[in-house]
Amino acid sequence: MTNTEKYRFETKAVHGTYKSSMHHDSLVTPLYQTSTFTFSSLDQGARRFAGEESGYVYSRLSNPTVAEFESRMAELEEGEEALAFGSGMAAVSAALIGLTKAGDHILCSKGLYGCTFGLLELLNEKYSITHSFSTFLTVEEIRASITDKTACIYIETPINPTMHVINLPLVVAVAKEHGVPVIVDNTFLTPYLQKPLALGCDLVIHSATKYIGGHGDVVAGVMVGSTNLIQGIRKTVQKDIGGILAPFDAWLLIRGLKTLPVRMDRHCENAEKIVEKLKIHPKVKTVYYPEIKGRLEKQMERSGGVLAFELNGSEESVKEFMNELSLISIAVSLGDTETLIQHPASMTHAVVPEGIRKEMGISNKLLRLSVGLEFWEDIWKDLENALDKIS
Ligand SMILES: *Cc1c(COP(=O)(O)O)cnc(C)c1O
Repeated sequence: MTNTEKYRFETKAVHGTYKSSMHHDSLVTPLYQTSTFTFSSLDQGARRFAGEESGYVYSRLSNPTVAEFESRMAELEEGEEALAFGSGMAAVSAALIGLTKAGDHILCSKGLYGCTFGLLELLNEKYSITHSFSTFLTVEEIRASITDKTACIYIETPINPTMHVINLPLVVAVAKEHGVPVIVDNTFLTPYLQKPLALGCDLVIHSATKYIGGHGDVVAGVMVGSTNLIQGIRKTVQKDIGGILAPFDAWLLIRGLKTLPVRMDRHCENAEKIVEKLKIHPKVKTVYYPEIKGRLEKQMERSGGVLAFELNGSEESVKEFMNELSLISIAVSLGDTETLIQHPASMTHAVVPEGIRKEMGISNKLLRLSVGLEFWEDIWKDLENALDKIS
């Protein structure tokens, strides 16, 4: 499959599985902006449709630029195969639809991306696929949360936006006892900082919109897992529901992947410095950012570029603070070169009912900061200035 297994992550991120000799010696992966592929004869077309001859057929089924992105992601996540989608939610929904049937149960982390929560409600309403939440803190708790209807476990770690970390090897150990596959949304850390498949999880999902693309110019998703799982979803849910990735977006994502390690190093460095400053500021009540120690060292290399914090003071002062910022943009999404701040209770997690939101640890005063690639002191000065202005 690859000739780069001997190389380190940074080298694989640049070169991937790309062979210029297969593409007129083009250094960079060409953009195959085509909807369909021609057959030299009726017989050849029939053989390609039957899967008896390799080659492309139609871009909803596969496209060379998209396939190049998929093979790079599989290599970086240390999975057998990857499958790209038109958004992170297209990947999440394909995974949950692919691994469940009517009447099944999904066990989730207590804290999920807002639209993933919305999707679970939809699956429940339309197909009676139920879900429940677990903190996944102890073997006993996990065992008690799995029922004979549990079709999969769906986890975010660190959880968006509270940055709570779940012990993946512990979950995997109990899930294996019950033969239940574990899906991990690895959007926040990327394979550079965390490789859930290497820890025994079964499927990794990304909103590639975030750090994978990294430049705020594409909406995309991807999943990585065993050939068996991926082919199952490719040939059914993706083919027939059709949430595919466009070739140009795949091209942008390949471009993004090449600088992923460099960007992640700087995102982490900047975030660590901002966390230290926020922690000692009198107007800041709590800072949420995973501390790497003990077991976590085995699971994640570093804590990533996203953090959350709560201000001292009223909900009104949260508004004042946000409106005082000038370098930092008020926007959802994360993992971009620009530093972005958002208010989960009224934005990304507004769809979650207030009671459940509180249980997830999302108060009306919680803010999520995606630390960008600007010089860290410029980011801090903007935050400090706004903090000093609030009453
Ligand atoms: C953004 C996000 C998603 C959804 O991805 P889209 O690309 O916006 O569809 C899913 N999970 C997490 C953790 C996210 O941050």
